Amino acid sequence: MIARVTLELALRKEFDYLIPPDLSEQIDVGSRVQVPFGPRKVLGCVTALAEESAHAKLKPILKVIGAQTLVTPKILKLARWIGEYYCCAPETALKSVLPEAVRQEQAGWRERLWVRALPFAGELPKLSKRQKELWQIIEERRELPLKELLELAETTAGTIRRLEDKGLVAIAPQISERDPYAREHILPNQPLPLNDAQAKALAAIITAMEGVSEQATALSLALSHRMGEGRGEGGQDGTTGLENLPLTRSPAHAPTVFLLHGVTGSGKTEVYLQAIARALELGKGAIVLVPEISLTPQTVERFKARFTSGRLQTLVAVLHSHLSAGERHDEWHKIRQGRARIVIGARSAIFSPVEPLGLIIVDEEHEHTYKQEEAPRYHARDVAIVRGQMEGATVVLGSATPSMESFYNCSRDKYKLLQLLERADDKKMPVVRIVDMRQTLRPGSPIPIFSPQLKEAIAQRLERSEQVILFLNRRGYSTALQCPLCGYVAGCPNCSLSLTYHRQDQKLCCHVCAHTEPVPAVCPNPKCRNPQIRYSGLGTQKVEATLAKLFPHARIKRMDSDALQRKNDFRRILGDFRAGKIDILVGTQMIAKGLHFPNVTLVGIIYADLALHQPDFAGRGEVEGEVFVQAFTPFHPAIQYARRHDFTGFYEQELEFRQQLKYPPYSRIALLTLKGRNEDKVQFSANHLQRELEKATSDIKDLILAGPAPAPLLRAETYYRYQIMLRAQRMSALSRRLAQVTQSLALPEDVSLSVDIDPVNLA
Ligand code: ADP
Ligand code: ZN
Repeated sequence: MIARVTLELALRKEFDYLIPPDLSEQIDVGSRVQVPFGPRKVLGCVTALAEESAHAKLKPILKVIGAQTLVTPKILKLARWIGEYYCCAPETALKSVLPEAVRQEQAGWRERLWVRALPFAGELPKLSKRQKELWQIIEERRELPLKELLELAETTAGTIRRLEDKGLVAIAPQISERDPYAREHILPNQPLPLNDAQAKALAAIITAMEGVSEQATALSLALSHRMGEGRGEGGQDGTTGLENLPLTRSPAHAPTVFLLHGVTGSGKTEVYLQAIARALELGKGAIVLVPEISLTPQTVERFKARFTSGRLQTLVAVLHSHLSAGERHDEWHKIRQGRARIVIGARSAIFSPVEPLGLIIVDEEHEHTYKQEEAPRYHARDVAIVRGQMEGATVVLGSATPSMESFYNCSRDKYKLLQLLERADDKKMPVVRIVDMRQTLRPGSPIPIFSPQLKEAIAQRLERSEQVILFLNRRGYSTALQCPLCGYVAGCPNCSLSLTYHRQDQKLCCHVCAHTEPVPAVCPNPKCRNPQIRYSGLGTQKVEATLAKLFPHARIKRMDSDALQRKNDFRRILGDFRAGKIDILVGTQMIAKGLHFPNVTLVGIIYADLALHQPDFAGRGEVEGEVFVQAFTPFHPAIQYARRHDFTGFYEQELEFRQQLKYPPYSRIALLTLKGRNEDKVQFSANHLQRELEKATSDIKDLILAGPAPAPLLRAETYYRYQIMLRAQRMSALSRRLAQVTQSLALPEDVSLSVDIDPVNLA
């Protein structure tokens, strides 16, 4: 027998190997194997089996990794889709579907020595006092880890070996599973009676799941036909791309995608839990994706607690980057062995081998962290939708502030919108106060960070021993040039998008059409002419320092990517905050989502302009919360709508704007970035690539090709970066062309190219 193997080298090629007779039982499609490649030994994955090969003199497979095939055929298919859609080597895609610890099998199962009491007939042999004490413990426990026994009996391994010699006990290695949550005592919890909105949402999800379940066989046949089987037979036929999810055209019971829109506290998680329970009843498993940051012990505990006992008892596996390699290995195998039917995890948990899969939940679906920022640059939410389609699983996207894409898909009936408009816990929505920052400014004086109103409110909270969260929205500010006095934003004359401010070379640049202009010396608004328009930049550090001066007794902590070198810091600070050891937490938006702090009664948004915010998480406790939004453009629709909690209004307006400019969701973007230390070489390569792309895509009618233009963050690194942006209605055709062009492109050695499909970050 021959095995076709994809190696973990991005060669975009598969190789045939002989299966030695002694391994033939163990090798199947999806097996991970070690093979010789030139003088090296390389890991790879079996993607097909064959009777014969076109090549002579095949080398044999050296060994198999793991007892079970690690990449199931379904995951293999998903990996292929990722390679094609996101325009990366299939090997790269395949590599990302298994956790490192499982792929390498370096941290395998942990074996420990256990001591077990053996049955014996007749009388106890003669024992010393020490041995007798020891035997009593063993007899009572029947079996226990050697290490534990040694500690309990305060004795040495020698004493126990003597009991073994007498035939009383056996000492043998045994697998001992790691459980990252072993120390937490989890109390079972019961489903809550749902309110009307929750009940309605749950009923819709359940109906969808049951419908799919009934027609599972028929559908999986239809789908596998539609998706195409493997690349060899021309699988990608242009109907696989996300833009073509067969949602509206499929049979009546095709898997459905729901968008569950509800403010924080509206009871979305309770709906997820009850939907999962139904999936289990239908004999299926579930995957729950949560942004890494929201994957707190409390969140995990809620899921574990619901399924820890009773009829639907199952293990809940947890996958996130905070686990040790060994823990990740064990958690993953619990899923593969079918003992854990529910997985909760961050981005890559979407590849968990849950089978059969009934339900996928993507909580906080708008979160940018679902996008992987290295190859393969996949978006876990979009992969979830494709996987749902492939495996007939119902998908629920949840958010308080859904992404434009998802909202748009609802308006086109591709997704079904479910709404929870009120809080389930009877807490009031916080009062939102907009502060017009323009009134706090005087020409010639520095831009204040705190308005008198916010200062006053903070002082009040400190006095009452309540907690405060302050956000600084750096995103909108680091890239745009805005006059702090009148709110003027420098826009592109061609595209009417805001221009990107390159501080280093004092230029404004449009990264859509490559228009550049110098930074104005004074505000161009004739009524303003403020000379301070060259905004001096405000970081969380400055906010923290100013706070410390204003409130010298307050305990202040800063949370942003500069301050947090390690994930542990993150958890520790949140833990301290929850425990009341911190009064004011300052951060960028990353602390905003999915966190429950009952004692937070004030949230301040320092500069809120130009982005949609979610000021709904103050006052999760008994006290009513207040949100201060400091804005230079207080009449910006995003801010006005947020104040009325009217997201739909905002979306409609924003969608109209995007439609005019042909931006996503009205187009799909591919962003190509060239990077190198020599600017001339990078620019030259970018121009060359641009010409090649023009040739290769000339038949895509609606294509808009822009650039090359210097990347917005050109200044921030020691590398020079140029970008080319392509926009088209459909991505699948474009992806294919991009793959062709980029593979045949000869770049100078010190210039590298990255392809980002559906980027979430244009910097
Ligand atoms: P979300 O996920 O939308 O933030 P949760 O499901 O966490 O909302 O619910 C918020 C709070 O309300 C939780 O404390 C939860 O226990 C409670 N809750 C949810 N649904 C109900 C309900 N039907 N009845 C009473 N309390 C509920
Ligand atoms: Zn422009």
